[in-house]
Order: sequence, then C-alpha cells, then structure tokens
Amino acid sequence: MTLPAAPARTAATELFTATFGGEPAGTWSAPGRANLIGEHTDYNDGFVLPFAIEHRTHVAARLREDATAIVISTFDGDAVEAPLSDLSALFPARRDEVTEWARYPLGIAWALLDAARRDPRDVPGVELAFASDVPVGAGLSSSAAIEGATASALNDLWQLGLDRVTLAQAGRRAENEAVGAPTGIMDQMASMLGQPDAAIFLDCRSLETQTVDLGFTAAGLDLVVIDTNVKHAHSTGGYRERRAACERAAAAFGVPALRDVSEADLPRLAELVDEVTFRRARHIVTENQRVLDTVQALRETGPRAIGDLLVASHVSMRDDFEISVPELDTAVDAALAAGALGARMTGGGFGGAAIALVEHADVAAVTDAAIAAFAERGFAVPTIFTVTPSAGAARD
Ligand code: ADP
Ligand code: MG
Repeated sequence: MTLPAAPARTAATELFTATFGGEPAGTWSAPGRANLIGEHTDYNDGFVLPFAIEHRTHVAARLREDATAIVISTFDGDAVEAPLSDLSALFPARRDEVTEWARYPLGIAWALLDAARRDPRDVPGVELAFASDVPVGAGLSSSAAIEGATASALNDLWQLGLDRVTLAQAGRRAENEAVGAPTGIMDQMASMLGQPDAAIFLDCRSLETQTVDLGFTAAGLDLVVIDTNVKHAHSTGGYRERRAACERAAAAFGVPALRDVSEADLPRLAELVDEVTFRRARHIVTENQRVLDTVQALRETGPRAIGDLLVASHVSMRDDFEISVPELDTAVDAALAAGALGARMTGGGFGGAAIALVEHADVAAVTDAAIAAFAERGFAVPTIFTVTPSAGAARD
C-alpha cells in the first residue's frame, strides 16, 4: 500500500489564503527521508546513506510589508508571529518562549539571515503556511522537511543566494539551537540533495556527497516502511546519553570523533572505556564500515547484495547501541521471516519506523506478516507503506 496522496501543496495554499488573504507568491517543498544505512554515525563525523522520499512538506509563502515573520501550519491551528529583529534574542537563549513547532521555521529564518550575514532589518517580513504529508515522529524526518521547505522559500524570497549545503547547515543549526535537538546534518542534506532512484552518500566530516544509484525499480525491489507508531523524542535522555558515550569513547581514544577509529582499533578501545561505552562505540565503528560496504555493494553488484548489511545494522543497534524497542524488533523479524532481503530500524530510535528491502511480489506478504506479528504481541497496529527515492527540496 502507499500512503494516501494527501494534497499537501493545495492544503498549504488554502491555509495561506484563509490565514493571510490573497495568493501566496509561490509554494516550495522539501521531502522527508529514509536512511538506508548509517545510523547515529552523522554526529560522529562518519558516513550515512539516506535518500529523499516522495512525501513532502509544502509551504505557501509571501513577503510582507512590515518586518514580521508569521507562521501557521495545518499541524497546529494557531499562527505564531515574531518580529524578525527579535529572532537573535529568542534563539537560542529564549527559545522556550516560542511555540515548539514554530521554532523550526522561525529558527530557519534566524539561521539563514546569520549565514547570509544579512541584518534582519534589511529584509521584509514573511508569511508562511505549511502542510505536510510526511508522517511526524516516524523516523522519516518531518523536521528536515519543514526546515528544507522553509529554507528554500526564504532563500528565494529574500534573494539570499545560499547554496544547498549552506541551507542544510542552517537547518541543522535551527534544529540544534532553536529547537534544542542535538541532531546531525544527515536529514537536512538528504532533504536538500535527494535524487530520484538514488541515495546520497554523505561524509559528515567533509560534507562531501556522492549520488549512489539504488536501482530498486529496475531490480523489482520495494522499500517498505513499517511505522510502529511508537513515538520517539529526540531531545530527551536516550539520544543525549548515546551522544555523550560516543564523545567519551573518542576522547578516551584520543581522536576528534569515532570516525577516526577503525574496526582493527576496537580491541584497544575496549581497554580504555567501560563496557557500555565500548558497545556504543562499536556500533558507530562497525556501522561506518557497513555504509562503505553498502555503497560498494550497490555499485559493484546491485541492490540485492545489501540485505545482510541492513540486518547487521539492525542487530548492532539492538544489541550494542540499544536504541531499538520491541515493536521495531518485531517489525524487522516479521519482515525477514516473510522474505524481505534485509530490514532494519531507521532513524534515531526509541520508536519510529523500520525499513525492509522487499521483492515487489512479496510486499503484501511482508505487510501481512508485520500486522499479524504486532497483533500477536498486543502492539498497536503499525502503519505500512512503500517509499520511493525521490528529488530534494525545490520551488514547486
Ligand atoms: P521526525 O523528524 O522524525 O518526524 P522530530 O521530532 O524530529 O520527528 O520532528 C517533528 C516535529 O517537527 C514536530 O513535533 C513539529 O514540531 C515539527 N514539524 C514537523 N512537520 C511539521 C509541520 N508540517 N508543521 C508544523 N510542525 C512540524
Ligand atoms: Mg527529526
């Protein structure tokens, strides 16, 4: 099954007109993303391999005569408004005064003006109305989608001339400093740079990217998302603890980041840190290698060759990084038992979604198996749909 095609672009335009009157200057959109492999490696300066999905957040936007930013979303009925000249006082110090969801678009406005070295008094105000068909909190990065849509719209409307990598960096800064979620750059890069039927191989240290053909369509494969509907909260404890453990391990090894530790170094690292910290680090070190191996397998052999790497990634997150939950393990096990070539949890963990690489003919069997396995364990019904690697942020 596919997610119902929510007419998010139309919804954004209608919300715009109902809120602000008249027509927007245009609509812009950015996609969510699924991460094929490379989990929690981004903030360790490592490698990731995400792709943009077809589900997008749209924003209908227009400049204002005054210097106020007003944002509204179908996600939350009330408009939120801030004078542009207040943004640098609000973020990051007084972000708690801003309604949580509005920190994303207003944080983007703040980060973009700073990146472009533009005085907020020199740009006009903006009206932004959002609607999205990216599921929220499902590990598909609705956050990067709203950031990317906002960044694209403001870059055009304010004629900032920033490139896509800079827009992605502004997204990360907004998420880290305006929202307060200590996430890496992967989601924003995938949402900005996505290409149809391809993944983005990103070196999170250099921010160099390469497009890697996935060839799912030609191979008759589908990527199935099994959203457990268990909600995660990035900003809270588990994520911070993992991040701190990674930093501790890198410091103990005397390197800037776990990117600089190889699999051959692991026995030496084990002597330097406690057992839990070691397992956290081992996940990162082996996951970096799995990303490199996946890119090589895709290039040399094709998408059928990556199934075992996906499974190994899941096992590492379950046992070493300990960010899976029973619902995610159930989704992965059920998909594999029903014939998936590979499956793993995707996203930050503690809930969200699993992905499974599945022969087109087996999609129904995998779907049924996951639903049955969830029912058997008394879990809420999962939401299951396929995702197609798609294009990145753009003016619609
Ligand atoms: P994920 O990125 O995995 O979907 P996050 O917790 O990182 O989950 O981001 C979700 C948050 O982003 C929402 O709680 C909301 O604050 C904000 N958000 C995402 N999409 C929208 C939207 N269309 N309108 C308003 N806020 C949104
Ligand atoms: Mg997010």
